[in-house]
Amino acid sequence: MANLSVAKFGGTSVANHAAMTACAKIIIADPNTRVVVLSASAGVTNLLVALAAGCDSTERAKLIGEVRQIQENILNELKDSSTVRLEVEALLTNIEYLAEAASLANSTALTDELISHGEMMSTKIFVQILRELNAQATWVDVRTIVATNSHFGKAVPNDEQTQKNSDNILKPLIDRGELVITQGFIGRDANGKTTTLGRGGSDYSAALIAEVLNAKDVLIWTDVAGIYTTDPRIVPNAQRIDTMSFAEAAEMATFGAKVLHPATLLPAVRSNIPVYVGSSKAPQEGGTWVTRDPQPRPTFRAIALRRDQTLLTLSSLNMLHAQGFLANVFSILAKHKISVDTITTSEVSIALTLDKTGSASSGTELLSGDLLNELSEVCTVKVDTGLALVALIGNDLHLSAGIAKRIFDTLEEYNIRMISYGASTNNVCTLVHSAYADDVVRLLHKALFEA
Ligand code: ASP
Ligand code: MG
Repeated sequence: MANLSVAKFGGTSVANHAAMTACAKIIIADPNTRVVVLSASAGVTNLLVALAAGCDSTERAKLIGEVRQIQENILNELKDSSTVRLEVEALLTNIEYLAEAASLANSTALTDELISHGEMMSTKIFVQILRELNAQATWVDVRTIVATNSHFGKAVPNDEQTQKNSDNILKPLIDRGELVITQGFIGRDANGKTTTLGRGGSDYSAALIAEVLNAKDVLIWTDVAGIYTTDPRIVPNAQRIDTMSFAEAAEMATFGAKVLHPATLLPAVRSNIPVYVGSSKAPQEGGTWVTRDPQPRPTFRAIALRRDQTLLTLSSLNMLHAQGFLANVFSILAKHKISVDTITTSEVSIALTLDKTGSASSGTELLSGDLLNELSEVCTVKVDTGLALVALIGNDLHLSAGIAKRIFDTLEEYNIRMISYGASTNNVCTLVHSAYADDVVRLLHKALFEA
């Protein structure tokens, strides 16, 4: 729909009464926002996940008490909580039953049913918050819209069915001019069971709903006023980026910046729907638009820092004029499910850093004894830890003369352990000692962004 925006508010944005009220005001001020997707109030999903793992009755009572307290704190500040309190109570009673069941047997379907209650409660309460600000809103159970497969915990949406549901249920409501409040994160499989899209899945829900409604944009309201040129905790002078591309945002997220990851917004990316990131606590501060092809495209966009890196240096004299050495090394790494991140090679050695994404362990733990033994059979292996990867992200970095000189001049006092340049037009990575990683970021930022 031509003028429709889908807004998503994250857990911190709906953490308490004041935060929810700020969100409600943003919605009321923007007539285009007709569909609102909410996360659970901050902390609730974690508590529900703990309950779903199964615990004894004392622990259960404690955790449910904490969930209840978060919701009570909001209910107590409503002018009229009579109706919504009953609804939340009913959901809390469900949680008690489901948590008890979870203590008896583990089931992924049960887990999803249980953890879906966080979004159920936040959306019920939010409708009342809007009502008290004289805005009428319609609560929609998102499970009637978002159809998924039965992969509990990380369900994959069925796009065709979701489109049909949206056309039949959501679109008529919006055509009638209603403001729809619904849940992120959850869906329903073909058997009618509740599913979840994976932790942090509300962004995905919002993008999916925007896609099936053909919305003009997705507004991600969170606790930061957009995406910055680098982590403002390291560089207080970091500047907010007004527009950037999905590709640049993906690079930043991959290299460790805690910003929205375009993969979590896949439907918006594939359907070319612009995504805005702003702070629900300070909407007046503005935010960042992430789009497919923003203009201008500056050479330098941002600096990301990824700590706790492991460097593996593999050398072999046999590599000299030999064939198949790299293939051999990579097949050993692949066999041990090690994903390589950055890499440089010389005639007789390879240096590479390990990709830890998706793994809870640190880089060194990824290197099992078996793996090191197997590698040692074909080459000498050296492992260095205590390193950090500083990634400079930008555009056409391979075409801009003098970039390497500027980087090396800026960092002339530091030992650069490895540099990866040329494979991507969007980044230049340097590997440095952890101890001076922050200084490297500060110096590069000063030289390239504050000039
Ligand atoms: N409430 C869910 C979670 O904490 C989904 C979300 O916040 O996006 O993972
Ligand atoms: Mg969240």
